[in-house]
Amino acid sequence: MVGPATPLRLPLVSSSAPTEGAPRFGARIGLFGGTFDPPHVGHLVTAVNVRHALHLDVVILMVNNVPWQKEGSRQITPAEDRLAMVAAAVEDVPRLVPGRTEIDYGGHSFTADTLQTLAEEHPGAELFTIVGDDAAAGLHTWTRYDEVVEQSRLVVVDRPGGPVELSDDVEWIRVEVPRLEVSSTDLRARFVDGRPLDYLVTEPVLDVIVQRGLYGARRDLTETDHS
Ligand code: ATP
Ligand code: MG
Repeated sequence: MVGPATPLRLPLVSSSAPTEGAPRFGARIGLFGGTFDPPHVGHLVTAVNVRHALHLDVVILMVNNVPWQKEGSRQITPAEDRLAMVAAAVEDVPRLVPGRTEIDYGGHSFTADTLQTLAEEHPGAELFTIVGDDAAAGLHTWTRYDEVVEQSRLVVVDRPGGPVELSDDVEWIRVEVPRLEVSSTDLRARFVDGRPLDYLVTEPVLDVIVQRGLYGARRDLTETDHS
């Protein structure tokens, strides 16, 4: 069952019980932004493995409001629906949380602004911006990307699909994660042509898709019988 998306609340980073809402000094926060249209196992495997490798206290799957890079190129699922899918995807995953900051800003989503907000909300936290190498390759086109690399450490994961040129004038942390050739684009195509979605998206996400009638979801979405 998917409830309303909860606002970001960082998990405890010390064993003593801190005051609710108090800043968690020393927290290591991963920011993993995306359109998540829909979120898939490639996103989850990436977030879980980067969190583990870098000992992050939390990874926020931040749902872009209006992804300016994608505007006009296709119909994008409403942000609240994408957030509901992300919330469902991480609801049972420790230390992965959905982020709605960019939806609350409204307008275009810029990572530099989001990092600024996180820094203000969590003073003293160390911030990490997590991207697949396809996204990293376009870093120079990001609005105020210099602020992104100043305010956070950039974490890049490999993504299947051919070698991607990365700039050598910024410092990257490379994290090896299992390379899964899964994309939201392919998943959307599967909804259209009826190929199976099994094991590419998780069941809680499929539930949201069916409940909300996303992607023209109209029939059994999987080959396996979950009834
Ligand atoms: P689309 O096909 O619509 O562009 P996508 O699968 O690329 O969707 P996004 O929401 O665009 O997903 O990606 C968000 C972030 O997740 C980006 O940094 C992207 O590089 C990364 N990412 C997406 N899929 C994978 C994957 N299979 N492995 C590793 N990283 C991924
Ligand atoms: Mg993409």
